[in-house]
Amino acid sequence: MDRRIYKLPFGKDKAPDWICPTCCNGVLRIMDNTFHFEERTLSKDAHSHEAWEPEWIEYVYSCLLRCSNDACGEIVANNGIGSVDWYSGYDNNETPVQEWDEIFSPRYFEPHLIIFKYPDETPPEIASEIDQSFSLFFSNPASASNHLRISLEHLLTFLKVKRQGTKKGKRFFLSLHRRINLIPIKFEGLKCMLLAVKWLGNAGSHAKKEITNDDVLDAYEIMDAVLREIFDNKSKKAKALAKKINKKKGPK
Ligand SMILES: [Zn+2]
Repeated sequence: MDRRIYKLPFGKDKAPDWICPTCCNGVLRIMDNTFHFEERTLSKDAHSHEAWEPEWIEYVYSCLLRCSNDACGEIVANNGIGSVDWYSGYDNNETPVQEWDEIFSPRYFEPHLIIFKYPDETPPEIASEIDQSFSLFFSNPASASNHLRISLEHLLTFLKVKRQGTKKGKRFFLSLHRRINLIPIKFEGLKCMLLAVKWLGNAGSHAKKEITNDDVLDAYEIMDAVLREIFDNKSKKAKALAKKINKKKGPK
């Protein structure tokens, strides 16, 4: 996963190589004459303030992106915010000068980007929460993380981990932490990864610490590995093959 394309701001002529969410193959490119940005009203009003500096500038932008894969040609709508960034350059007399450029950060994509490709066999209730997480990734990392945590609850249910316990004859809901500890023995090796996703989801739910895009990307990387381990047919086939070879202690 190239994290830079999901984290760094971009110039209006240099959009990152976002991957097309429809074919997952082509790269999204800004369509000619569709990138529009304007300075926000409060930002414009602030120019008259005696302490005003270009760093105060706030833009909003919108554009259309088209997939570079001609066989696909998907169109994606994108919008977000902008500001200015200083850089060092030279004027016509080759005197060093500080100049500034507009930079932009996405907030929404429609359809949303696919930040990691989960296996086709992933059950729909798990996939749906991951998709909701992707759709909120740029605008609300805490909510994105929370949806991933819900997908984890669904995953445990799929693995037949019980949701409720009983104490003195009364039923109660088990915490996610306890459920992870009840995971079937054959998935025991995933426990540490599931707990990590849970801790990141906790931060998203309870706001003990502000959750960043990087934290959510950490959770995506771990969840990607977990889902491949459980649902990816290729990995299952390779394991079954390895099992047969090991049993024969040689070619099968
Ligand atoms: Zn495409």
